[in-house]
Amino acid sequence: MSRRRQIYEGKAKILYEGPEPGTIIQYFKDDATAFNAQKKGTINGKGVINNRISEYVFTRLNHIGVPTHFIRRLNMREQLVRQVEIVPIEVVVRNVAAGSICTRLGLEEGEPLPHTLIEYCLKDDALGDPKVSEEEIACFNWAGSEEMADISSMAIRINDFLCGLFAAIDIRLVDFKLEFGRLWDGDFSRIILADEISPDGCRLWDMTTGEKLDKDRFRRDLGGEEEAYREVARRLGLLDGENGPGEVLDMAHHRGRLRGTVKKK
Ligand code: UDP
Repeated sequence: MSRRRQIYEGKAKILYEGPEPGTIIQYFKDDATAFNAQKKGTINGKGVINNRISEYVFTRLNHIGVPTHFIRRLNMREQLVRQVEIVPIEVVVRNVAAGSICTRLGLEEGEPLPHTLIEYCLKDDALGDPKVSEEEIACFNWAGSEEMADISSMAIRINDFLCGLFAAIDIRLVDFKLEFGRLWDGDFSRIILADEISPDGCRLWDMTTGEKLDKDRFRRDLGGEEEAYREVARRLGLLDGENGPGEVLDMAHHRGRLRGTVKKK
């Protein structure tokens, strides 16, 4: 593990070359940034929780036939994924008004939107990830029209599925960000879901109290971010003990091995 090649270091993850061609290892850090990296900090244990939450969500999405880059979780902070060419567009899905749409359109936070909105932002830190139109995406060929059709229909499907998944644990999915990639096979590519889905890139509000269980706790200095991330994982059934996610997961793995549901390496 120590001599593997680092491919890229982002704000919340490091990417390493994977064990086979076409694979990558995503390492989840505890680092947190906000406001285009003007605010920096750490959320203790975030990487461990996000690795686990994202594994769970991507696995469920794979099961319903949404193609994703996820292959398997390797350990507490790492997962093996398919190497893709990232489409340079952040796809934001909104169900309820919060964050930038409130400032931009003068909406009150918490107002349900008349219907789900999809927004596109160009992945460009120097420009502060500006919102872009589908015409601009086509004009500059950031994604093709068939790719955009796949992206938007997958985004709606993912939203419907995740709204239900979170509603079942008394969480409102307010909005979230997705990234997609091109999986190349010779001269052809297809679009699959990439990156991660975790409280870093979602707004998750307790359905009853309205309490924020996501990165807004860090962005807005509300405190309690570790607990909020853990609470999401706990409600998803990913932590059922008191000894931290790693230990619980290792115990679950051990139990699975005893039952024969986990293959011996
Ligand atoms: N988001 C993200 N990365 C970004 C921008 C937004 O993960 O670079 C997520 C954010 O967590 C929220 C949703 O996308 O769940 C919508 O974010 P918004 O446009 O309101 O921007 P923000 O107010 O978070 O800067």
